[in-house]
Amino acid sequence: MLRFRVTLRSACAWERRMCFRAEEVFHRYFQLHRIKVVGLLHPLSAIVLLCLIGFMFVYELCYVLPAITDPHGIWHKLSWFMGIYTVLNILGNWCLGFMSNTSVEGLPLDRQHPVVGEAHLWHYCTTCQKVVPPRSWHCRLCNICILKRDHHCTFFANCIGHKNQRYFLAFLFHLSFGSGQALVYNGILNWKNNAFMASDPLLLISRDRTQDADFNWKYTISSLFKLNLFLFVVPVGMFVFQMIMVHRNSTCYKILDRSYDVGWRRNMDMVLGKRRFWIFFSPTIASPLSTDGTQWRHNQIV
Ligand SMILES: [Zn+2]
Ligand SMILES: [Zn+2]
Repeated sequence: MLRFRVTLRSACAWERRMCFRAEEVFHRYFQLHRIKVVGLLHPLSAIVLLCLIGFMFVYELCYVLPAITDPHGIWHKLSWFMGIYTVLNILGNWCLGFMSNTSVEGLPLDRQHPVVGEAHLWHYCTTCQKVVPPRSWHCRLCNICILKRDHHCTFFANCIGHKNQRYFLAFLFHLSFGSGQALVYNGILNWKNNAFMASDPLLLISRDRTQDADFNWKYTISSLFKLNLFLFVVPVGMFVFQMIMVHRNSTCYKILDRSYDVGWRRNMDMVLGKRRFWIFFSPTIASPLSTDGTQWRHNQIV
């Protein structure tokens, strides 16, 4: 028994050493190749996102919609209006989130130092070599400390933090809404043509697809329905997760930390700002935040 415990302990120690080594190698790799990684990852993510949005927009409104509605009817016009409104919101929130400077360096110079009596709340960043406000953490991709850092988003080519989380939330909301609209149109088209089962892999093996144009068409629209389903589930899941974080005033960086939870209304205000849920209507609605990201009310219970 004792021998087993000793073996287990040495195995754990070895595992810890290997994890530490892997982390060290990973960090060193990032330090050396940060600019190359960012230069490749960010444009690639932007191209993938733009292609998906562009394809879904054209396919749904120019192909699916005329097949399921009267092109001169009110539903057709309303769907076009909603489609354009949703895409403008996605792109608007995306651009403003990308352009937001949510780093500690973006603060006015006099706010980059703690006020009297709050120095003990700030901590030192060894990479930036300066003290930074509470809830600010260093991002290895941005190579800077971010105010209330949530996570680094490759699609935004920026960190999601104190000043741009509202844009990220609205971006996810409109992505979910747009994919939801498309899912309804695709669902109706598949239902009307009895094509839901056409992309079953077993059918693909058992049939000669080169001879059957109708089957090929049903296979394509059914596959696009499944792609649409995936593009709906991912942003919805991310939006729900983000709303849970905002509701508890936690961040992805410190998921279990609820020490700043001061009630869901105040927590929401800290991210959405003065106009609250109106920010979901348009990215241009001004919604000033209650704090500049340097001072956070601590939950006394913790
Ligand atoms: Zn830093
Ligand atoms: Zn970052």
